[in-house]
Amino acid sequence: MDISVVIPLYNEEESLPELASWIERVMQANGFTYEILFIDDGSTDSSFEVVKSLASSNPNIRAVSFSRNYGKSPALNIGFRKAKGDVVITMDADLQDSPDEIPELYRMITEDGYDLVSGWKKKRYDPLSKTLPTKLFNATARAVSGIKNLHDFNCGLKAYRSAVVKHIEVYGDMHRYIPYLAKNAGYHKIGEKVVHHQARKYGHTKFGLDRFVNGYLDLGTLWFQSKFGVKPMHIFGLLGSLMFIIGFLAVLVVLILKIISINSDTYYFYVTNSVYFYLSLAAMIMGLQFFLSGFIGELITRNSPERNNYLVAEEI
Ligand code: UDP
Ligand code: MG
Repeated sequence: MDISVVIPLYNEEESLPELASWIERVMQANGFTYEILFIDDGSTDSSFEVVKSLASSNPNIRAVSFSRNYGKSPALNIGFRKAKGDVVITMDADLQDSPDEIPELYRMITEDGYDLVSGWKKKRYDPLSKTLPTKLFNATARAVSGIKNLHDFNCGLKAYRSAVVKHIEVYGDMHRYIPYLAKNAGYHKIGEKVVHHQARKYGHTKFGLDRFVNGYLDLGTLWFQSKFGVKPMHIFGLLGSLMFIIGFLAVLVVLILKIISINSDTYYFYVTNSVYFYLSLAAMIMGLQFFLSGFIGELITRNSPERNNYLVAEEI
């Protein structure tokens, strides 16, 4: 099978028939063998009924329905597990992404040899409250992930070589950083294609302003995992040692001042009046906590089934 189109959807009943027939048209025009995987993320409208009736008239349509709303990432993840195509294409259900991009995305994966091609909504039809923070978000994501050539990490329209989606796990809200997940899994050929974007035709956006806060927190998590995931002591041990050194120096200062004051008749030094005393206390306590976090992290890592998962590129 050439292509699996994975479509997460949450209350998108109005868009689905148009989307399905548009994809069908594109696939037939290009002679692709394909499947459309609708992942109903616990919709409360009649989305899944619509999907069922679409599937009854097109055998290429498959669908999964969650029992409740889990989020876009879990929806994508189950789609990735089920996809059978050589190339997997993800797309939003709200008709903001155009199925006409599919043939070129497919070509970039199969002929240009990309592992992942991300859409870039160069001209966006979204409110300013969304486009402006998005620019900042992407700049940070580029800097942290080291994927310098991507302008639009969170574009719903993306294409993957099948192996990529089988080796990454999208969970929580990590769909915003799939290129980063792919890079961490060892897939480096990440490309970009400018795609057409349309204003939402039906319904409304499913993400609020908290997307930006959560987005930044998740980026921090991913960065930490990719750097220290299997060696937490390297960071916590370093921070802990630093704290101990600061604490030790502060104690030394307190001690010296005390000795000086004991030998002087004019000057009396109260340890508890000194800023260095408090500095040493705080630094020692923090240092101990860093070390403990490191040890606990190491114990957890040692028991993690992921600790020895490597992706072998070639073997002779
Ligand atoms: N979506 C989903 N589960 C959710 C939220 C969204 O499956 O909990 C789907 C939604 O139906 C759409 C896609 O994810 O197909 C992108 O969502 P949306 O268009 O609301 O995001 P935006 O375009 O505003 O970033
Ligand atoms: Mg949308």
